[in-house]
Amino acid sequence: MNQGHKILVVGSANTDMVIRVEKFPAPGETLSGHNFLLNAGGKGANQAVAAARLGGKVAMMARLGNDLFGKQTIENFKKEGLNVEGVVLDNKLPSGVAQIVVDKSGENTIVVAGGSNLALNTRQVNKYYSLVQEAEVILLQLEVPMETVLYVAQKATGLGKKVILNPAPANKLSDKLYASIYAITPNETETKFLTGINITGEKSAQHAADFFHDKGVKVVIITLGAAGAFLSTPDYSGTIATSEVEAVDTTAAGDTFNGALATALSNKMDWEEAVAFANKAASLSVTKHGAQASVPFLKDLNV
Ligand code: ATP
Repeated sequence: MNQGHKILVVGSANTDMVIRVEKFPAPGETLSGHNFLLNAGGKGANQAVAAARLGGKVAMMARLGNDLFGKQTIENFKKEGLNVEGVVLDNKLPSGVAQIVVDKSGENTIVVAGGSNLALNTRQVNKYYSLVQEAEVILLQLEVPMETVLYVAQKATGLGKKVILNPAPANKLSDKLYASIYAITPNETETKFLTGINITGEKSAQHAADFFHDKGVKVVIITLGAAGAFLSTPDYSGTIATSEVEAVDTTAAGDTFNGALATALSNKMDWEEAVAFANKAASLSVTKHGAQASVPFLKDLNV
């Protein structure tokens, strides 16, 4: 187990159940699919695994069902070297699952049942509060209750920690939450959802970043897919390019980026270096299929 963590991820863990099909079934239709795949997923878990594989010392706070998937997930966390002290098995709710159907063109339909993720509450945070106290960087997403996200952000910021919010999946954010995070990392779609601004170039990216700065967020990083990421801090503003790669599957590119960013910051890189490191890791993840399966290890980065 990874004691002495510097990064705490408070977030979701799901089991992805994937079936490939020739075409999507119509309502009421039963189809035969190809092989069934069971993959570890959930934004929180993906980001924690990415941070750990890239050299971060990571603790995970999550809520799993006391079922087959929950037990498998906790074993996976341990295998990845995460501190699992704050991972709770809920006796009432099932583990979170995502049912994913992918057709032959690569298009997918996804249904998520949040299950135990939705019961990751402030009481659990209080019970494992030492994990918050010990961390330097706290990484949050929006697949667990908003009340919990706000609570962790406020407490951690009060303790002088760097709180990074990856606002995914897109959801409305309160002014209180903006005021209690240090950095935000939306992609272009989430940026449009939160600010109403379409990212068409650096000018619009800065305009969107200023929206977040006006709410009190010090560092804004808008991920731009193959174009890298736009970084706006009090000392820097500009696009940081990523490596050109042959993309085969962008699943978990955003999660790899966020995990890598947390690791880079916990290793005391400055924001420009941290974004370059995150770009590098995320660009490697798009060259492989799958979510956690595509997350690179530090040795793959050649840094
Ligand atoms: P996803 O939802 O697919 O996980 P996202 O929409 O949250 O990703 P993106 O902005 O698409 O986030 O990608 C995140 C990061 O991944 C980018 O900032 C970049 O570093 C890297 N990336 C994504 N797509 C590519 C690509 N085609 N080539 C190189 N790097 C890429």
